Amino acid sequence: MADAKPGNAAPAKKAATGAYTPSGVSPNRRSRRSYTIRLWAVRHSRFFEWFYHRFADVFLLLHPLWKAIGYSRVEAPITFIERNVKGLLFDCRMCGQCALSSTGMSCPMNCPKQLRNGPCGGVRANGNCEVEPDMPCVWVKAWEGSRNMVKGDAILNVQKPVNQSLRETSSWLRVTAQAAEAREAAAAAKDA
Ligand code: SF4
Repeated sequence: MADAKPGNAAPAKKAATGAYTPSGVSPNRRSRRSYTIRLWAVRHSRFFEWFYHRFADVFLLLHPLWKAIGYSRVEAPITFIERNVKGLLFDCRMCGQCALSSTGMSCPMNCPKQLRNGPCGGVRANGNCEVEPDMPCVWVKAWEGSRNMVKGDAILNVQKPVNQSLRETSSWLRVTAQAAEAREAAAAAKDA
């Protein structure tokens, strides 16, 4: 019944948009579940880097299938799967423009300030967030995760501002469509 209270409606609605929701909404659950799995994923960033590349290759191989069905038709089911898988592993906020491979597998959208290019000046001496004292700074973790990765120096690349119009859309499909387009353009240029 607690969800029916007017005071809880706004955070729930905000969370559904993928926008940052403070851990105060459910501190115990977030600190025990999300932080634990999220930090585990960062510790295993090298494996996830390897796995993601294999996974992206398979998705690209399936491009003819996505194209035959229609990218717009598969968007909803793939987004559903992506939200749940990445939500579990990375506490993904479905920004639609995934930066995990450039951020040590630490999702930058979990930063309360949603900074995409490094930490603010408020990181505590113990490496935790100034806004959420119990949460390790996502950028401290991003740097640690990046040091385990083969292409970890991608963390030094400047990320574009978040395009809010892409929220709640599938990064997987977007990256696949862009890779297929680039591949077809390269093939066409070669034939010309
Ligand atoms: S960067 Fe965006 S898509 Fe990637 S895990 Fe974070 S919120 Fe999800």
